[in-house]
Amino acid sequence: MVPKHLRAGATDIVASIRQSVLKETAHPATNEDTLPLVTPTRKAGIATAASLIELCQSYLSHSDIEQIRAAYRYADDAHLGQIRKSGEPYITHPIAVASILAEWHLDAPTIQAGLMHDVLEDTGTSKIELAKLFGMTTADIVDGVSKLDKLKFSSNELAQAESFKKMLLAMSKDIRVILVKLADRLHNMRTLGVMRPEKRRRIAKETLDVYVPMAHHLGINHAFRELQELCLQNYHPRRYEVLHRELIAARKNRKPALEKILNDTKRMFATANIRGRVLGREKTCYGIYTQMKIKKLSFSEVFDIYGFRVIVSTREDCYRTLGALHMMYKPVNGRFKDFIAIPKSNGYQGLHTTVIGPQGTPVEFQIRTEKMNDIAEQGILVHWLNRGQESEIQTLTHAWLQSLLDLQQRSSNSSEFYENIKADLFPDRIYVFTPKGKIVSLPQDSTPIDFAYQIHTDLGNHIRSCRVNGKVQEPTMRLQNGDMVEINTSSTAHPTPDWLDYVKSGKARAEIRQYLRGLDFDTAVRIGREQLEMHAIGTDLKIDELPDEIWNAVMREMQLPSRASLFAEAGSGRANTAMLLHRIQALLDDQKEPVEEAQSVHVIVNGTKTRAQLARCCHPVWGDEICVYERAGHGVTIHRATCSHAQRSGTNNADQWETAQWADNGNLHFTTPMDLKVTNDRVAILEVTRTVAQEGASIVGLNIPDDRNNPELQLLVQVDNRIQLMRVMRALKQLKTVKAVNRRFESSF
Ligand code: MN
Repeated sequence: MVPKHLRAGATDIVASIRQSVLKETAHPATNEDTLPLVTPTRKAGIATAASLIELCQSYLSHSDIEQIRAAYRYADDAHLGQIRKSGEPYITHPIAVASILAEWHLDAPTIQAGLMHDVLEDTGTSKIELAKLFGMTTADIVDGVSKLDKLKFSSNELAQAESFKKMLLAMSKDIRVILVKLADRLHNMRTLGVMRPEKRRRIAKETLDVYVPMAHHLGINHAFRELQELCLQNYHPRRYEVLHRELIAARKNRKPALEKILNDTKRMFATANIRGRVLGREKTCYGIYTQMKIKKLSFSEVFDIYGFRVIVSTREDCYRTLGALHMMYKPVNGRFKDFIAIPKSNGYQGLHTTVIGPQGTPVEFQIRTEKMNDIAEQGILVHWLNRGQESEIQTLTHAWLQSLLDLQQRSSNSSEFYENIKADLFPDRIYVFTPKGKIVSLPQDSTPIDFAYQIHTDLGNHIRSCRVNGKVQEPTMRLQNGDMVEINTSSTAHPTPDWLDYVKSGKARAEIRQYLRGLDFDTAVRIGREQLEMHAIGTDLKIDELPDEIWNAVMREMQLPSRASLFAEAGSGRANTAMLLHRIQALLDDQKEPVEEAQSVHVIVNGTKTRAQLARCCHPVWGDEICVYERAGHGVTIHRATCSHAQRSGTNNADQWETAQWADNGNLHFTTPMDLKVTNDRVAILEVTRTVAQEGASIVGLNIPDDRNNPELQLLVQVDNRIQLMRVMRALKQLKTVKAVNRRFESSF
């Protein structure tokens, strides 16, 4: 289930944040302790490079400032000649974004990234160049922002919202990416007025669906409220105007009552001996509008437009203040909430209560300590105040993810929750883009083929070629997070069985299988032959020159009536081409060299070098611990010390068993069987064969027991010695498709 705040529909968003709006849409009045209250307004004045630097100087070091100046000069150069819709030079936008980030007291790389957040998209700069000039951290943030920029949110699709969230998780290893994006959106919203009405509405809607919840999750309350106001203002300009006028008028009317409460509260501090301050607060227009809409109220019926926030020094004082307030005014039943004992998912703490004020109107009080107040207003930004190391940012990101998950936990059943956790914390999925910027979520290591099938069966079934990030690529290549994939189709193109060796998604696999099974026999035969020939390229095998007895042997093994049906098996994907070729090769080899005598090798028994044969029951490999068995007329056989034969017989005929050591291996090869538990035999075959080859060993036997539930590969591996064998097993264990590797005694070959 999609977390409430990321659910796409506007009504859902409104509904889900209603609670928080009612409780949290608060802001300090400009002059503390005085009325009238004011609606939250944005920082006045236009940010300039000079004002930005001044702002940064208030909390950053001299060398940080130099870095920021350099980024400014670079961005200024890059955007030279570009003009915003408002007619201002483009650079005013990045400066404003960087200034917002500086107001949030973010670090130098973040401010730099704010200044340069559009250079990758709008100018010819590359990420590598940025990294060279400004370091990897800054370059990574800019790159992350550019990738987020490519997202389009079609807000009525739940799936899209879910992908969006995961996309964030996957791409935002660094939460600063999101903070830059948030500042970017905030400034764009502030300057939206110059756009056409439809565009204003569209962007406002997107902001409400995506960025408002984001700000909320991060706990950046001031941005959360400002964005909400801007959304209403741009989505319903007329309604906003009317509401705003009403609000100003109402302020005047309620002033006496509010002033009385303010004075009563201050007096209460003195009597109860509590040190604290009290702030008036006012619901935003957005908050009022939402409440009117949901509860079908008129403006005059919305009572809790005004409220108060009491800030005290200790936790105990919070509860004492609550007690004192409840003595002073009658509390409204059921409206008390203890968010100190049970903090909100985004870390918010405080006591909330509604009391009946002097004129009989309900008034809400929020009681917090200074620290709680900081967290409530600044959220995640608070952590930058006592900024630590780079690693801390990772921790913060993690905490943020955790809060997302907590939120999810409250709103969905546990198995879905677990699934989502898994997906989030162990990201085994990647997120790629369509050319139009839609997100497609795929399993790790997916290919453009998976991508195509994810979008539409027809697209997958007619892939002719593909481009990844604008470059022509093989459809079987592995995609990376953030890749943009473009599929070109042709009506004559069609899936081939070898695709099954590459695809990762269940959907693609099923679709390819279905297509191949639907082929008529002749086509399957043709494709199967092509596949075998194609796979044989680079080997000594010549498909059309194979002797009949080989074909017959394979047909017999597979219980097929004809060579054509054999091809058809391969063409329809029922038989794995690579395996088939392997089998053919093995049969050919057998034909060339008739079964050898058991290999003989020198071992040392009781200090004497003796010629001995390798036992076939336990497949000893040079370097294994061994013992030998001597039987009249049969010579000496070498067994592994752990061989069950050796151990069983050993107890009865102790005299005939001797421990032994290996003499030189005489450049011999040794074969040993092993079992591999795999996740998917088709995929594993490719990787396993490649890996064994990379280790300089070779596979001399391969068997795939047909057990869908426990896919397994049985290998007979040829190595020079035990050290190489261990290397092979280690490498195999590291493959994602391989779950377990075990050396066996008995061979089934
Ligand atoms: Mn921008």
